[in-house]
Amino acid sequence: MKKSWKWLSVMMVAALFILAGCGSNGNNAGSGNSGSGSESSGGGIAAIKERGKLLVGVKYDTKLFGLKDPSSGQVEGFDIDISKAIAKHILGDENAIELKEVTSKTRIPMLNNGEIDMVVATMTITEERKKEVDFSDVYFQAGQSLLVKKGSPITGLESLTKDSKVLGSKGSTSVKNIKEKVPGITVLEFDNYQDAFNALKAGKGDALTTDDAILYGMAAQDAGYEVVGKPFTDEPYGIAVQKGNSEVVKAINDTLAELKSNGEYDKIYEKWIGKAPAQ
Ligand code: GLU
Repeated sequence: MKKSWKWLSVMMVAALFILAGCGSNGNNAGSGNSGSGSESSGGGIAAIKERGKLLVGVKYDTKLFGLKDPSSGQVEGFDIDISKAIAKHILGDENAIELKEVTSKTRIPMLNNGEIDMVVATMTITEERKKEVDFSDVYFQAGQSLLVKKGSPITGLESLTKDSKVLGSKGSTSVKNIKEKVPGITVLEFDNYQDAFNALKAGKGDALTTDDAILYGMAAQDAGYEVVGKPFTDEPYGIAVQKGNSEVVKAINDTLAELKSNGEYDKIYEKWIGKAPAQ
C-alpha cells in the first residue's frame, strides 16, 4: 500500500513536470514537432534575404490591426506597421514585404505550409498554439469583450446565459473562451470578423465576441454598436513563426525591443489604438 502511494506520487510529479515543461516553453521537450527538417519552407533569415522580401500573414478585415481599403487596395493597421518594422530590420527596407490575407482559422496552416514567414494578425499566444508554432515576445495586450447594438439588454458577460446566442470567428480563442465562461451558450462561427459583424447587424445574434481592441475597431465603423462590460480574458498577442525558427523569432524580438526603446512603438500604438473610441 505504502509503496503504491509512493509510486503514485512519483507518477504525479512526473506528469506535472511534463505538463509544465511542454506547456510553458514548447521548446525541445515533448509533443512539439521534432524541429529538424521543418526549417525549409518557413525559411531562416538567409532564405528571407535571398528572396528579398518578407511574406507576412495579416488580417484584411480587422480595422485598427489589418484592414484592406477596397478603393486603394492598401492594407493598413497596427499589425501592418509592426510588420514593416520587421521587414526594415531584416531587409533594410520597410517596403520589402508582401502581405497575404489570413483569417483566425487559416493563419497556422498557411504558416506551416510555408506560404508566409510569419503571422502578425491579432493572434493570442496560447499553450495550445505553442504546440504548433513558436511565438515572439508579446507585442500587444488585449482582452476579450462583447459588442452589442446600442440599447441592448446585454451589458457584459454577466448578462449572457445558456439561452444567449453570440457570434464569433472560427479558429479564435474567443469562441473557445465564451463556451467555457457560459456553458451551453450558442455560438455561431463565421470565417472572418466582417461576416460576424454583418451577422450581428442582421440580428442573427445577441452579441459579437472577440478582443476588445478588434471590437473598438468595429464600433468605430458603425456608431450603432458599442463595446460593453469589462474584458474577461487576457489575450497577449504574439507573432508566430514555424516551430524551431529561432533565428526569425530573435529578429522579431530585436525589432520589438528597438521599437520600444526608440519610441516608435508608442507612436504606432497612438496612431492606431489611440484612435479607438473611449475605453
Ligand atoms: N486574439 C484572439 C485569437 O487569437 C482573437 C482574435 C482573432 O481571432 O484573431 O484567437
